[in-house]
Amino acid sequence: MTLPNAQPTASHFIDGDYAEDTAGTPIPVIYPATGETIATVHAATPAIVDRALASAVRAQADWAATDPTERGRVLRRAADLMRARNRELSELETLDTGKPLQETLVADATSGADALEYFGGLAADVTGTAMQFGGDWAYTIRRPLGVCVGIGAWNYPTQIACWKGAPALATGNAMVFKPSEMTPLCALKVAEILIEAGLPAGLFNVVQGLGEVGAALTTDPRVAKVSLTGSVPTGRKVAAAAAGEMKHVTMELGGKSPILVFEDADLDDAVSGAINGNFYSSGQVCSNGTRVFVQESILPAFLDRLKSRLGGVVMGDPLDEAVNFGPMTTEAQMDIVLRHLDTARSEGATVAAGGTRVDREGFWVEPTVLTDLSDEMTCVREEIFGPVMSVLTFKNEAEGIARANATDFGLSAGVFTRDLARAHRVASAFEAGTVWINQYNLTPAGMPFGGSKASGIGRENARMAMDHFTEAQTIYVGMGKVEAAF
Ligand code: NAD
Repeated sequence: MTLPNAQPTASHFIDGDYAEDTAGTPIPVIYPATGETIATVHAATPAIVDRALASAVRAQADWAATDPTERGRVLRRAADLMRARNRELSELETLDTGKPLQETLVADATSGADALEYFGGLAADVTGTAMQFGGDWAYTIRRPLGVCVGIGAWNYPTQIACWKGAPALATGNAMVFKPSEMTPLCALKVAEILIEAGLPAGLFNVVQGLGEVGAALTTDPRVAKVSLTGSVPTGRKVAAAAAGEMKHVTMELGGKSPILVFEDADLDDAVSGAINGNFYSSGQVCSNGTRVFVQESILPAFLDRLKSRLGGVVMGDPLDEAVNFGPMTTEAQMDIVLRHLDTARSEGATVAAGGTRVDREGFWVEPTVLTDLSDEMTCVREEIFGPVMSVLTFKNEAEGIARANATDFGLSAGVFTRDLARAHRVASAFEAGTVWINQYNLTPAGMPFGGSKASGIGRENARMAMDHFTEAQTIYVGMGKVEAAF
């Protein structure tokens, strides 16, 4: 099979155009479905990083002074362009990540376009407050932070670039974005489209590289904020480095989220939620509900339906729209998942479905369901980031909540029940940044998304993201005589 050409014009996008420096370490881009190299980019050299930051600094002040309605218009034009090119962008996302085209057509460029449109609409609505102190008064305005750095994970390269770029640009900042070295292609297209939509050069730059490039960006004194999507260990490093220079941070990190399925739940919906929350994107979703707690009495029925639904899995060429399950994005991630499965078996787990590498080229692991588990087992405690669902049972609400919360992570949680009062009671008892009731993993642009506890700081999307890319300046207005002691 001949794959579409994925080689970008050049590795980086700086000051409105593609830029190259072949002195940087080559980074192969591998199509996960076959393991073949489909493109090569070069990691940013210090000179490239400097050019990107310098052009962002140059462009930012004028952009901050631009009428916010005009800023919004640029973002909304970019949203339209992304939608018009959805198929081409979705194919690139599939080549970059291995996710099936069936998914990428509806979840990546479309989600990026939603964010651009949403923040484009909000751009002119950044407001402060006013307060009165007798005759004197004060007011606040929200000021952009300046140059912001975005650092991405490899599972949603288009979406992450847009979820960070759109609110940053709407509020008058410039952004230098470093995609994951595993999926470097899609953010370049976002940069290209923003320029075509009329964004002035320098405001959204893309530089490639491994962690060291991210680290160089994080500590550069020209940078006011770092927004990272990645794992908890990387988040700790990046937040610590940013704190050294008192930079703002948003941390979108990993999770081990619970789903509680009560015996009165609509079982088909609960099974669908668990499938979406474990096997979509082959499980490479931060907010996945990988600890599925099923109330004891319905465990057999839940497992029966789940197993019969797994009969609908279609693997194959991810560019074929009939395929609904893709490979792991990297060989390394496949190896991590397979190691977790070995550990689970050695700790006594039962493999109720799947459990092995798929016998085909590329990095495929079967959708896997583990049962006979206890909360102490490694597969129940650690983020696996692959298609592995751990099914546990619980007796009652109090026990379910306590066990759901017994983790350092706090990204997301879900509850399936027909009891309205219980749904809200359980939702508010979860120690998690985002909770779904009778649904799972939907993240519209107008809804805040982010983690509690070790899963992160700050929120992406919704109005809250506008706050995270601005800071308040308070202005006190003296209306009378100034009194002084002497
Ligand atoms: P990762 O932490 O390995 O890498 C994330 C990014 O950080 C990459 O671009 C990497 O190059 C960069 N990086 C690594 N070390 C760095 C350093 N010292 N300084 C600056 N940057 C550095 O994560 P990953 O393996 O790419 O992605 C998977 C993880 O991301 C999972 O834990 C997943 O849960 C999480 N994730 C979270 C969200 C969310 O919104 N909460 C979304 C997607 C993925």
